[in-house]
This record gives sequence, C-alpha cells and structure tokens, in this order.
Amino acid sequence: MKKAEDFSEWYNEIVEKASLTDKRYPIKGMNVWTPYGWKIMQAIDRHIREGFDGTDHQEVCFPLLVPEDQFAKEKEHIKGFDAEVFWVTHAGLNPLDVRLLLRPTSETAMYPMFSLWVRSHADLPLKTYQIVNTFRYETKQTRAFIRVREIHFFESHTCHADFQDAERQVQEDFDILEKLAEKWCIPYRLLKRTDWDKFPGAFYTVGIDTLLPDGRSLQLGSIHQYNENFSRPYDIKYEDDQGQHKYVHQTTYGMSERLVGSIVAIHGDDKGLVLPPEVASIQVVIVPVLAKGAIDKVTEAARQLHKELKEAGLRVHIDERDVRPGVKYYDWELKGVPLRLELGMRDIESGKITLVRRDIGAKSLNDRSRAVDEVKDMLLTIAREMLARAQKEMDENVVTVDSLDNLPSKMIRTAWCGSEECGHEIETRADKNILGMPIIDEKYDGKCVICGKPTKTPVYLANAM
Ligand code: ZN
Repeated sequence: MKKAEDFSEWYNEIVEKASLTDKRYPIKGMNVWTPYGWKIMQAIDRHIREGFDGTDHQEVCFPLLVPEDQFAKEKEHIKGFDAEVFWVTHAGLNPLDVRLLLRPTSETAMYPMFSLWVRSHADLPLKTYQIVNTFRYETKQTRAFIRVREIHFFESHTCHADFQDAERQVQEDFDILEKLAEKWCIPYRLLKRTDWDKFPGAFYTVGIDTLLPDGRSLQLGSIHQYNENFSRPYDIKYEDDQGQHKYVHQTTYGMSERLVGSIVAIHGDDKGLVLPPEVASIQVVIVPVLAKGAIDKVTEAARQLHKELKEAGLRVHIDERDVRPGVKYYDWELKGVPLRLELGMRDIESGKITLVRRDIGAKSLNDRSRAVDEVKDMLLTIAREMLARAQKEMDENVVTVDSLDNLPSKMIRTAWCGSEECGHEIETRADKNILGMPIIDEKYDGKCVICGKPTKTPVYLANAM
C-alpha cells in the first residue's frame, strides 16, 4: 500500500503488519498491545517520567472507578464527558446505590483527595502525574492508537497558590514538551483553543497539534489552566501565611498513545515504520552476511560486535535466523529499526562495517575499530534529520491565506478578529475547525476574513482527525 495514495489505508495496514497492535480483540476500539508496540509505548512513558520526575512532579496512581456523585460536581465537565462514559452499574448480582464510572480522565477521581491533601501554603505547589488507562466511548470510527476506547494515557495535575504560579506551571509544561518532542522527532504547534472548544471545565486550553500526511491535524495532547474552576466545586483550599483560606489554582496536562500513532503516521513510508532512535526498542540490527566456508568466522565476528555495542548501552539485536539476508532486510525495514549493520567476510577482511540508515536508505562503510562511536553518531544524525524533515514538511503544509475560497486540504493560517460570531462563520465557510491562536508570538498583520477588523495574531484551521 502506498502512503501517498491512501494514507488512511496505509496506516491501518502498517500498524498490523509491523506488529504494533492486534485489533482482533472482541471489543471495538480496545486493541491489544503486542510486545513490539508496547516497547515503543514504554519508551515514550520512560521519557515522560524522566521529564516530569525531573521537574519535581510526583507519580501517583489513582483508582480506575469514580463514584457518580463525585463526577457530577463540576457542571461543565460532566456535560462534556457524559456521553462518553462507561458505567459500572452492578457489583456481582446487586445493583449499586451509587453508580461508578470508568475514568475518562482523572479530575473527578483526584480532586476529592486533593482537598484532603492540601492544607496549608506549605503543601503547594502540589505536582502529580500518573500514567494509566482511561476509557471513552468514542462514537466516531475507531483507529489504532489515534481513536480508541481504552486509551493509554498520561496526565499531570497540579495545584498552586495563585494564578501566576499556575501560569508558571503551564510554561514549564511547554518546556518539558519541547524536549520530549525532540526525542520523538515530532513537530507540533501550540494553539490556544477557542472558548467553545476548550476542555470541559477549563479556564483555557492549549492544544498540541501536529499535522498528518493527508493534511488533517492530530491533537497529541493538551495543557489546561483551570484557574479555580475545579477547586471551588471540589473544595480544594489552603491556608496562606496570613491565616486566610484560599482556593488553589490548578493545571493539567494530558497526552496519550496518539504519540505512537503520530510517529507511525509522520515518519513511516511504503516499506513500513521508521522509528526515531530514542523510541526504537531495537536501535541497531546486525545482519551477518554468511558465505560458504566462512560461516563460523562471520558469526563469531558478528557476536563480538553485538557484545561491544550492547556494552556501550545501545539497544542492539543480532538476527541469526536461518533465512536469506534479503528477508531479514525486509523484516527490519518493516519494523522501522533505525540502523542496519551488515557484516560479511569482505568487511571483516578490510576492517570495515556496513551501516544502512532506515530513514533515507543511505549505505556507508565505516571502520570496525570505531564501531561504537560510528553507530552512536549516526543515530544522533538520524534523529536530528528526522525531526528537521518532519518540521519542514509541517511548515510547508501550513498555508497562509487571506480569503476562505478554494482552501487546500492543509493547515490554514488566516486572520480572525477573535469574536465568536466570526469564528463560527469561519468554521462553516472553511469547512474546517479552528484549532486556535498560536501561543508563541508570530509576526503577523491581517484583517479578519469575515468582518475585516485588523489583527496582529493569526488563527489556525484544519480538518481535525
Ligand atoms: Zn471578525
């Protein structure tokens, strides 16, 4: 299947052929993480833990079930999630007095506890996160990693003494994201959602949007400032140093297994996956090229190389299956291993190794004596170039326009005065969603495409996945 011809079909096929997921589980939208896919998710989780542990967040793990009465406390929130919730109505044979729901996100599980945990200003800021599965009854067509009903999910929840400290947290979240996205080689835009599109109950929402090869946008996650919108209904208060009781200000940050989907979608090609080196569970695969009469010698040299690379901290695998090298190349290309190391008798005799890059297919001869350094350098180069190429592709697929006629199926940058009336009109006429205004200042001068009012900030539109 060709990616450029039918992205959607290509995606569905590749996630299965590369053994990332098994969609045959008998509940729609609940797929099985296979070993290869799960290792990729685990690498991403590890990066997330490093990012959040490194900024003094504490990992927690809350129960999966939330009682209905706690769920119902924040009115906007329940309105936003009501139709997507899975309910537990019975315990054994007995109907429950208070129904329980499977968390669609964990505000309503955590905040009753936060109101017990936070007592004084000395307890603030409270910075927590968890990596758990959440459940949402998606009614749109499901798609592996991108639209599922059981979602592998990261969520951070923080409490602060005042609005400014919560704002500082949002900035820290942006900084953490920048470092993570570099590891994943994923380009993105931070876009402040409209009031009618923000997270249910949020004061404001910043979407983390990337662009798929078919021109649709994919929201990878979001960062929210809650102000006091949840601390009031959940009664999360602290005593300040003057003895006054105040509500905390809160933020959250959510990302999901969509990150895996976006890596597949953005970097993959007609041969299969192309994994960023930081994400790949196998970074280098060694393929011994055996010739008659030299089998033992080549095998031994390949194993020695494997040992050296492994001891140097690289994730390396040696493919000693009894199949032709061509079959091995095909399999590892499909699985997206960043670097292939071929070793044959001629290489051994000349003191060389052959390295083949998965991302651009380039082949190079390198000194055997510098194998560890050559491999490490090349993985860094691959990561840097993968991000640069993806970034360039995203930038090229953002089109600035000053009228809504004949819009291409790309991300659109245009002028909006910010009024709700003009916003709805833009969405209708463009037949696209407003993703929002950029968080990072962009030099821009435009006139609202509906009312003509001048604006210094552009707005981004796209068909959201
Ligand atoms: Zn306007």
